[in-house]
Amino acid sequence: MADAIASVKGMNDILPPDSAAWQRLEAAARGVFTAYGYGEIRTPIVEHTELFARGIGESTDVVGKEMYTFEDRAQRSLTLRPEMTAGCARAYLEHGLPGREPVTRWWYGGPMFRYERMQVGRYRQFWQLGAECFGVAEPTLDAEQIAMLHALFSQLGIAGLTACINNVGSGDDRVRYREALVTYFTPHAASLCGDCRRRLAQNPLRILDCKVDGCRAIAADAPQPVAYLSDGTRAHFDGLQAALGEMGIPYRLEPRLVRGLDYYTGTVFEIVSASSALGAQTTVVGGGRYDGLVEQLGGPPTPAFGFAFGVERALLAMGADGAALTAKPALYLATRGAAARQRATALAQALRGRGLVVEVEHREVGMRAQFKRAEKLGSTWVLALGDDELAKGEAMVRHMATRAEQPVSIASAAASGPLAELLATPR
Ligand code: AMP
Repeated sequence: MADAIASVKGMNDILPPDSAAWQRLEAAARGVFTAYGYGEIRTPIVEHTELFARGIGESTDVVGKEMYTFEDRAQRSLTLRPEMTAGCARAYLEHGLPGREPVTRWWYGGPMFRYERMQVGRYRQFWQLGAECFGVAEPTLDAEQIAMLHALFSQLGIAGLTACINNVGSGDDRVRYREALVTYFTPHAASLCGDCRRRLAQNPLRILDCKVDGCRAIAADAPQPVAYLSDGTRAHFDGLQAALGEMGIPYRLEPRLVRGLDYYTGTVFEIVSASSALGAQTTVVGGGRYDGLVEQLGGPPTPAFGFAFGVERALLAMGADGAALTAKPALYLATRGAAARQRATALAQALRGRGLVVEVEHREVGMRAQFKRAEKLGSTWVLALGDDELAKGEAMVRHMATRAEQPVSIASAAASGPLAELLATPR
């Protein structure tokens, strides 16, 4: 036998029954996002590398260390998307949305790619579901998106989640805060890692999310952005808290939260889970305001707010059981002989057309084995159809739970007897 080929490290296959839990989560998200006025956007998985370098920031870990970047055959530098906000902002401009509508609300779902160190809940290909709203500067929009997530996670029964909010400032606040960080970190420069020494000159805010222990210890006492907010930004932050309070959405102020992507301005938030299934990766959702990104990508000044959550992490937090959600066949057609199999295949086709979940046994295996398999699949009924039954025009139907059996006419199987009852039952 040839050597088997494994999947790429950090990239997972999702098989049934686990995929049923994914589908449930995706369907719930689609329903909730739609109710809040968000329409789905699908963008390419691959973008020009420059989009992420300009949008997310060269000195972030995501751009500096984690991107899957390659040249195509025409020597263009392309990158597998590490997140979707930059792609959404690109599409927003490319399709002329700023001139077409005052407010744009999009949601998305799909795989993202980051070359990160792997742990429970941290992968190199992972799925995000997220939303972006362009065109609204007011804090009630920030609160509405956090409330939308609260509604979704409540519907999914994810308990123990807390929204942590902060404000990293914008414009002049950021300039003052940056100066305060430089003043604080400069005397510690010799003890910082090489990356952070570079960040001190280029982008000191990024020192706050360095994962090196020594840098984290120094950053623990660094100045916090809320102390540098202007009156306008402070009023926005107060407005967000008042709106969350009025809706009864639980939240916590987290003055150290800065998020690891450069485009954030003003509000930032994360939703963290208390579930031990997540190991060290307790952040399920990350998001915030990015009022400068569209302009930075060549568009008009456009306020914007968005978030993304990790599907794998949300499922871990839910303790999702795909097996419990997998559809069981209402009817299993056990067959013996080629002619019976052909008839059973046609009968199943007709029954599925009327909404039943039906599975046909196409292999020539013993009847006992077929009944065992029907039991394992959790089928409600089994109809055993052999060439003998076909000749008689009558087959036997067994109710698997009670083992009660009754004959049915093959020609009118769907019109009378248990299959007719099954078809008449609301599903
Ligand atoms: P970010 O795009 O970094 O703001 O991340 C948003 C959310 O995506 C996080 O809160 C996680 O739930 C999820 N996420 C980010 N990176 C990974 C990863 N490597 N593996 C799994 N989930 C991730």
